[in-house]
Amino acid sequence: GKVLVTGANGFIAVWTVKALLDAGFSVRGAVRSLSKAEHLKTIFSSYAGKLEFAIVPDMIEGGAFDQAVVGIDAIVHTASPVHLAANDPAEVIEPAVNGTLGVLRAAAARSASIQRVVYVSSCAAVLTRDAPEPHVYDETCWNDEDVNAVQTLGRAAEPLAKYSASKIFAERAAWAFYEEHKGALSWDLVVVNPPWVFGPVLHEVGSGPKSLNDSNRLLFEAITKGSFTVADNCYTDVRDVAQALLLAVTKPAASGERIIASARSFKWQDFVVAASKTSNKVQPLQASYDATKEVYKVVYNNTKSKEVLGVTYRSLEETTADILKDWETRGYL
Ligand code: NDP
Repeated sequence: GKVLVTGANGFIAVWTVKALLDAGFSVRGAVRSLSKAEHLKTIFSSYAGKLEFAIVPDMIEGGAFDQAVVGIDAIVHTASPVHLAANDPAEVIEPAVNGTLGVLRAAAARSASIQRVVYVSSCAAVLTRDAPEPHVYDETCWNDEDVNAVQTLGRAAEPLAKYSASKIFAERAAWAFYEEHKGALSWDLVVVNPPWVFGPVLHEVGSGPKSLNDSNRLLFEAITKGSFTVADNCYTDVRDVAQALLLAVTKPAASGERIIASARSFKWQDFVVAASKTSNKVQPLQASYDATKEVYKVVYNNTKSKEVLGVTYRSLEETTADILKDWETRGYL
């Protein structure tokens, strides 16, 4: 079969394209311009004939994906504005919602061959930061707190709340569209919610660590500068997210499910400890730190991802070692 991956040049998407190609699928990658496809053509040259591209310059436009879905068997929709510095919340909310609805409408109207649509949401749509801590979240939880913040504060809301709201509105729009039309669709919907995603990079990045995507850049700041600016949370290795998305395409039992794909809780210090054991370029923590005595405030129940999808999660040590190797190769360390 052939799978459409939207935002194919993104951090998570490139690993997802690789997982799909390795599993024998053909892939059509939706990217904003032909030049964004060049890097993918290079890194996936050994899969020649299995990878093609559709150009979707801006998914905020109606009908943006109408051509891209033709002849496709499944879709993994990853494209979304992932920047944590929006001024007007509409900057992130409109492309996220219009893009998601654009994909679903095109899938419903333009292609009878599609059997499954996987939407990449986020644990930002799950976590409520005002919950008592520690707190275990599952797939029934929704981050209404950030929706309220954005609705009452608008531009003055925290940047992270604006991003979270974009993911919640887009995920809710996806479920509402699916519930309304599912009797008449050739496909079913699966939503996968990852927490922070870290990992080695396959997508095109510039010559310095500043060009890393937001999640990896925060990890870089933590490991190399001891700068822990964002609250502890949970994370998943990007390769395990890609595996979860592949399984979300193929597993019949995932039909109609919302699935959290979280490896485990972390404190930024855990990555520093692991990194300083693998690389002499990373300074050990100055302050005394004992992970066994720490309280991990945010926990996502990942049972469904293991039981329904069959996801397996790499250890924090393996992920950290592979990330450091990647940074060393790129000359970031
Ligand atoms: P990236 O920023 O690396 O990729 C985002 C992709 O979306 C890019 O291909 C980008 O295109 C595309 N895109 C953004 N806006 C538009 C638009 N208006 N029209 C068309 N395409 C657009 O993000 P990640 O790989 O980090 O994230 C992928 C998905 O996973 C997102 O949905 C994100 O919300 C979700 N996620 C990410 C997490 C993380 O920690 N990284 C955690 C949980 C969920 P271009 O490059 O051309 O701008």
